[in-house]
Amino acid sequence: MNQYIQSVLDFVRQHNSGQAEFIQAVEEVLTTLEPVVAVHPEYEAEGILERLVEPERIILFRVPWVDDKGIVRVNRGYRVQFNSAIGPYKGGLRFDPSVNLSVLKFLGFEQIFKNSLTTLPLGGAKGGSDFNPKQSPHTPGLRCSDREVMRFCQSFMTELQHHIGPNTDVPAGDMNVGGREIGYLFGQYKRISNEWSGVLTGKALSFGGSLIRPEATGYGCVYFAENMLATKKRTIEGLDCVISGSGNVASYAAEKLVTLGARVLTLSDRSGAIYAPKGLSPETLKFLRQLKEVRRGELSEVAPDLPGVTFYPGAKVWQLADHVDCAFPCARQNELDGQDAADLLKKGCTLVAEGANMPSTPAAVEAFLSAKILYAPGKAANAGGVATSGLEMSQNSERLAWSAKTVDDKLREIMAAIHENARAAAAEYGHEGNYVMGANIAGFVKVANAMLAQGI
Ligand code: NDP
Repeated sequence: MNQYIQSVLDFVRQHNSGQAEFIQAVEEVLTTLEPVVAVHPEYEAEGILERLVEPERIILFRVPWVDDKGIVRVNRGYRVQFNSAIGPYKGGLRFDPSVNLSVLKFLGFEQIFKNSLTTLPLGGAKGGSDFNPKQSPHTPGLRCSDREVMRFCQSFMTELQHHIGPNTDVPAGDMNVGGREIGYLFGQYKRISNEWSGVLTGKALSFGGSLIRPEATGYGCVYFAENMLATKKRTIEGLDCVISGSGNVASYAAEKLVTLGARVLTLSDRSGAIYAPKGLSPETLKFLRQLKEVRRGELSEVAPDLPGVTFYPGAKVWQLADHVDCAFPCARQNELDGQDAADLLKKGCTLVAEGANMPSTPAAVEAFLSAKILYAPGKAANAGGVATSGLEMSQNSERLAWSAKTVDDKLREIMAAIHENARAAAAEYGHEGNYVMGANIAGFVKVANAMLAQGI
């Protein structure tokens, strides 16, 4: 391996011990940059990689709040402002007990390259809390009430508002942060700052949200898959697709696939996985979205009543179907391992497009690349969400609201541009068809050159 890259990797491993997800994300990116670093000695001379792997700023704060029983609870809040070379920090907020500094640094680091790929001026960041809206702190088996979520969000924003702004840092949603949470966060920001500004994206339509933003990550992932298939003169119609997750990204990826004539055979959540050998119908998908967005329930509660569907408690989706053409991991990081990848390949899978961030383990990525199937890493395939957040920011600045068609057309264009940039970068550096290399190199070069131009 290139000595410069090796030395930066060694430094990252030594100085971030215990941050497994972050180290995994840095290794995944840096090991693909060899060809570009080899022909650009100025990156080493100016310490670009050393600077790139260190967040510009990390904010860590206490989030005290009062539950419905009057008991004081304390969670930990974070914002990792990783890189602002090409635009204001931008990246989602995740509320989940699994949130820690390693997870947020990995997500923030990925976000730098993803945002660069969108073609929009967006820096990279990520934030969130170990708060769990799916488990009440006082009653086992009960979710937090809306009032508890509101009080938590208000306390979280009371601190976060010091560090964000429409030209500084514009957070959005991520796991367990949807329309309800963004509404409460926005309300508190507005109250404290005494101004209405586009400081958050993913807002409801009535106060500055963008049409197609909820759909954008899932739709964009499918558009990216269509672009990859087009390079082989294929379309998605009639293909057997497996999807993991059943949240925002999974549900809109499923909707778009079904609209385009593909069969969606599976979905999953923390309770298990559902398998529909003939494909999930649009009605079932709509019902499941209601379950997740409104009732906030689990697949296990409703699966017995779904027509043509079998439920597998605690199962992953990758082994359920006999034949698979395409896989869309849309739940969480490291949810698809080397064995899952081998099983998918055996079942005939020729396309993987990641809706989630880093859902495939390094062994799974290696298996997909060795098999030379169409494999799109999350930072390219799921960039439609942040890209449409960028479009929401533009609409807020203009004080205008674009039609759904306008936004969807722009989303399609952006996904096509990301695909083309990644494809062309891979080809330019001698790795044709390798979207991992292509996405990393294309995302990196733009940020690295901006950092060079702006001095140390
Ligand atoms: P949601 O919270 O809406 O959905 C996440 C889904 O994953 C849920 O179905 C959840 O199950 C499931 N899940 C989470 N943890 C586990 C687990 N440990 N085991 C099994 N299932 C699990 O999140 P999103 O759809 O917004 O995000 C999904 C992924 O996509 C994340 O990696 C996120 O970072 C990424 N992403 C999201 C974007 C967006 O715009 N929302 C943009 C780009 C990337 P349950 O319903 O039971 O909680």
